[in-house]
Amino acid sequence: MSDGAARLAMVTGGNRGIGLEVCRQLAAQGYRVLLTARDAEQAHQAAAKLSGTGDVRAEQLDVTSETSIAALAERVRATYGAISALVNNAGISMKGFNADVVRGTLAVNFFGALHVTQAFAPLVADGGNIVMVSSGMGELSAYSRELKARFLDETLTVAGLIALADEFAAEVAAGQHEAHGWPSSAYRVSKASLNALTRILVKELPRLRINSVCPGWVQTDMGGASASRTVETGARGVVWAATLSDSGPSGGFFRDGKPIAW
Ligand code: NAP
Repeated sequence: MSDGAARLAMVTGGNRGIGLEVCRQLAAQGYRVLLTARDAEQAHQAAAKLSGTGDVRAEQLDVTSETSIAALAERVRATYGAISALVNNAGISMKGFNADVVRGTLAVNFFGALHVTQAFAPLVADGGNIVMVSSGMGELSAYSRELKARFLDETLTVAGLIALADEFAAEVAAGQHEAHGWPSSAYRVSKASLNALTRILVKELPRLRINSVCPGWVQTDMGGASASRTVETGARGVVWAATLSDSGPSGGFFRDGKPIAW
């Protein structure tokens, strides 16, 4: 890893909420930050807000667009060569519950993080950090014993996990998900799937540290005004995982830097 690339961090959904604050805290620590957002203009406006904090650069990235992901991966490869931290922060929580909500939620919270990680992991330097911004809502305690075992199966592959997520969508469409032990929450299943992805990728990419982080209940557009935590506090645990050194943990689920149950 060259010195110039040693402290480059990339954040998805960086234009507002926890993502914007993660960008601010990383820049304050001296990282060069690629603040990405699905709307290029919003990325530029957000990066401009942080210009007094450090070196923050705006990039367009819609995590649901393979074209957008591939274009940014090529720009990052050509311009910087390597990055040292990737923060998969972009996420949505949709109103209601039906097959469309399930597909829309999985597209951002699970498939978005999967496709971004597949495209950018080759650019993350050895010993770099990948963070999945997850949620305590992703915990598996409310699932049937059989489904919990399938999510936690040590032999689960990315292809098997995709099939599991697709199975949830199909069972919701068929009105059968409850009978098979799934919760009636697209968001919960998207984050459980994201956590399973962390456990799988850490075995596939042992040269990197990959962790899931729950930021807690945070005062953002998603969390609402009555949430218990400020964005500063919520982002701190994400930044902790993005800046771990070689002796840091990998393959875990953390809140405030402390392990929590899957
Ligand atoms: P937020 O304020 O609603 O911000 C969500 C961010 O994700 C926005 O920047 C949004 O961009 C971006 N995004 C959505 N779809 C995208 C796409 N297709 N491509 C790229 N970016 C996209 O939410 P937040 O509270 O900061 O949440 C950040 C992360 O923390 C999420 O993964 C969320 O699930 C997780 N989390 C939040 C809480 C909480 O209490 N707030 C608790 C646990 C976990 P646009 O502005 O373009 O929509």
